[in-house]
Amino acid sequence: MADSGRVKHDSPSSSPGPGRKKVQQSPGSKARYCVHAPGHCFRKVTLTKPTFCHHCSDFIWGIVGFVCEVCNFMSHEKCLKHVRTVCSCMAPTQVQIPVAHCFGPAGQKKRFCCVCRKHLEGSSALRCEVCELHVHSDCAPFSVSDCRFCHQDGGQDIDTYQHHWREGNMSSGARCEVCRRTCSSSDVLAGMRCEWCGITAHASCYIIISSECSLGRLRNMILHPSCVWICSRNFSKMHCYRISENSQHGEMDNLDDVDTQSPVTLKENQPTGSPDTGKQTLKVFDGDDAAKRNQFRLVSIPRIIKNEEVVEAALRAFYIPDEPQDYELQSYGQQGLFTDDIINRNGSPDNKPVFKDTMSDSWVLRAKPRETEVVKIYHRWQKVGVIYISVTAGKNSMVDTVIKDVLSQLGKQNDNPADFNLVEVFMSSKQVQRQVLSGQELLLDKLLEIRKTSLRQMNQTRFYIEESRNRVVQVSLLLGGFPTQLDKEEYAHLLSEHLAIKSHLVTITHVYAEQGAVVLQISCFSEAERIYMLAKDISISGKQLYSLVIPEITQSKLAKGSCPLLVFVNPKSGGLKGREILYSFRKLLNPHQVFELTSGGPLPGLHAFRDVPHFRILVCGGDGTVGWVLGVLESIRHKIACPEPAISIIPLGTGNDLARVLRWGAGYSGEDPYNILVSVDEAEEVQMDRWTILLDAQEMTEDGKENGFLEPPKIVQMNNYFGLGIDAELSLDFHHAREEDPDKFNSRFHNKGVYVKVGLQKLSHTRNLHKDIRLQVDKQDVELPSIEGLIFLNIPSWGSGADLWGSDSDSRFGRPRIDDGMLEVVGVTGVVHMGQVQSGLRSGIRIAQGSYIRITVTKPIPVQVDGEPWIQSPGQIIISAAGPKVCMLRKSKTKQKKQSGSLKEGRSDSPAPSDVTGQPSSSSGMDS
Ligand SMILES: [Zn+2]
Ligand SMILES: [Zn+2]
Ligand SMILES: [Zn+2]
Ligand SMILES: [Zn+2]
Ligand SMILES: [Zn+2]
Ligand SMILES: [Zn+2]
Repeated sequence: MADSGRVKHDSPSSSPGPGRKKVQQSPGSKARYCVHAPGHCFRKVTLTKPTFCHHCSDFIWGIVGFVCEVCNFMSHEKCLKHVRTVCSCMAPTQVQIPVAHCFGPAGQKKRFCCVCRKHLEGSSALRCEVCELHVHSDCAPFSVSDCRFCHQDGGQDIDTYQHHWREGNMSSGARCEVCRRTCSSSDVLAGMRCEWCGITAHASCYIIISSECSLGRLRNMILHPSCVWICSRNFSKMHCYRISENSQHGEMDNLDDVDTQSPVTLKENQPTGSPDTGKQTLKVFDGDDAAKRNQFRLVSIPRIIKNEEVVEAALRAFYIPDEPQDYELQSYGQQGLFTDDIINRNGSPDNKPVFKDTMSDSWVLRAKPRETEVVKIYHRWQKVGVIYISVTAGKNSMVDTVIKDVLSQLGKQNDNPADFNLVEVFMSSKQVQRQVLSGQELLLDKLLEIRKTSLRQMNQTRFYIEESRNRVVQVSLLLGGFPTQLDKEEYAHLLSEHLAIKSHLVTITHVYAEQGAVVLQISCFSEAERIYMLAKDISISGKQLYSLVIPEITQSKLAKGSCPLLVFVNPKSGGLKGREILYSFRKLLNPHQVFELTSGGPLPGLHAFRDVPHFRILVCGGDGTVGWVLGVLESIRHKIACPEPAISIIPLGTGNDLARVLRWGAGYSGEDPYNILVSVDEAEEVQMDRWTILLDAQEMTEDGKENGFLEPPKIVQMNNYFGLGIDAELSLDFHHAREEDPDKFNSRFHNKGVYVKVGLQKLSHTRNLHKDIRLQVDKQDVELPSIEGLIFLNIPSWGSGADLWGSDSDSRFGRPRIDDGMLEVVGVTGVVHMGQVQSGLRSGIRIAQGSYIRITVTKPIPVQVDGEPWIQSPGQIIISAAGPKVCMLRKSKTKQKKQSGSLKEGRSDSPAPSDVTGQPSSSSGMDS
């Protein structure tokens, strides 16, 4: 490709686009200061409170500072000439690849708005779910689609990856990659951070860092964006990233609309140091669209002011970086728009003051019609780097002629112009809209039309030249919630019956009969969209269907030796922590590798990773969640390329016995998610036994009242323990209590308290469990002592961390291990004994060790598996090993080096240490 002199590259250090020469000294009294970074409009101010420089992050000593009237960038006088951070009004020129954000309500942490640079407070703050963009909801329309580029959808390859810089809102203590000094600030928006690798630097330093991004310390577990393919087109970001909308607050409901603005937006353009007297406030609308919606901004101006300065103030309020002489304000009255604008009414734009109190205070900002215009035509859509060609469009310039012009400037005059399209791309922060322009369209008319609608929209619109070859549409949708255990034809029948799918566009590529789910490959986007939306409205046999957009992972593009992490989060576990963890992992990793278990469970993630030859899993949830993932993994193991992914745990909620044994702790209490990921990377693989319990109720209960029918045999998987009698009865009561009042059970500690209280109520009962059951271990009858509860342990932690087996050595039994193929059988004499075990005063009564257990139960009896209790009817219970052992990750004992609160280790040059192919550790027993 000809990189001729006419091809322009935008970069933070280059000059602004044509036509942008900041007026150094306007005819008025106000002094302006020229800087190298485009867009800013600096004014000297007297500081009345402690202030920090946004350029160097340092305190501004003295009372003189310089503030940008558009974006509130604050600077030392000495830093002014070095400022490279472009003004918010120039943000559209900085977009590399337009990618829309995915807004949700902001969290609790102190953050600054990336548009107006002011502090975010209250409920109107928004944050992107997958990058560090924070904005006021009023400011959101002025931010652009510069989110992380997490997947491909155009079939063009990206080989090198560049840092994705985001200004400010960094963790405290972050150090500059270049000068090693602190570069973060908790007082202002300052410093730069790469959204992928996490390196940080001063705004004054980052420019010299080479652009290529290695993805940092976590690169081995990040699903590289060049491997992910998703045909998203009109699917919103929420849908692409499978972010469940119900986790959002009500106010987020309308965010899928394009640029819904709050009805009244307020912009105080009040210079900080000037006297407040002699001001008037104007309501200004940005074009027809805002006028229709009655969305205006308030612009405060002196009572005596020149035309051009009013227009300039209005442009700034809308973050439009252009010169005021190309614009005008038209009076907007009750009857609608007047054509007689200020300038017409007041004669030529002279120096007469034109605004008086008596005049209308509602105005519409308009662009003056232009005879010719220089238009930037970008190319390399979806390629890194911003490259454009400037063409001059006149009154009669059709799109076709513009394409010819651009091709010849690109040195492609021999290419057929018919093979190219001119695409209008509106880069709003919430949606990137593409529209192919027809060849006969007049480009100037198009510009006129956009400006008439909204000047902001014009500022956020780009034109791209693009090859017109048809892109292949292949959308993968996973539909679930169907009846289980049907065959492909039966599912196809259900699909055509309920969703009326067009069979020539839709193929069933995968059937997961055990989960009642199918994966569809759809070759037409609108059909995909229709099925996606419709499925959510359909119930079959009382069960609601769900649909998910599934990313395709191109296995051939995965880096050699990479081991991406598949993350499952149960946002229902552990109160609000689940949601914050989801948010952190979507930002630290690729959002396409993070799955919420509330939509479709573990299947969608495992399906998406089916061809990845080597991956690991991180489960964020309680023991039950881990069991859920292990269960689904077991059932589709034969369908995935990595049949034994190692599994690590972030314990949420209560219990968490498995997480304790594997050293992940008793519960998540806010550790830095980045450090957790490093621990996962460094964790060691251990094998763990899993067990199958067959519960076969053979006899009717004696009175036949409660269980008047024969239950079919039940087969469940067990990872932690299986309990009969008192221990299960307590969790059963606890279960009922929780179902009655779930709100009371949000804190882990509270849960435990309730557990104990429920236990005390049971003291009056006496039970003789040993008389109601017969136990056989490895085909040998085992005589039971007088007990009320019998527990079979796979792991050395029971009932939230208690050591039931005990640590004493015993010549009768081997030391318990999680991978020895043996269960430990322990008895408890009652609630008091259980309490003593819980508090570590005693251990249980050791009864046996073995790998094949048979229990005959003669009365209905409470049982629990991994904390899930129910009443089991009399009959046989058989516990045996469940197929192969599973591979778990145990946090390594060596303490991590202190990370000094920053993510700078992202740059460490040492290779990722995980040796995932290494032999599993042989010391996978318990730690006592
Ligand atoms: Zn600025
Ligand atoms: Zn400074
Ligand atoms: Zn703001
Ligand atoms: Zn974003
Ligand atoms: Zn980077
Ligand atoms: Zn620095």
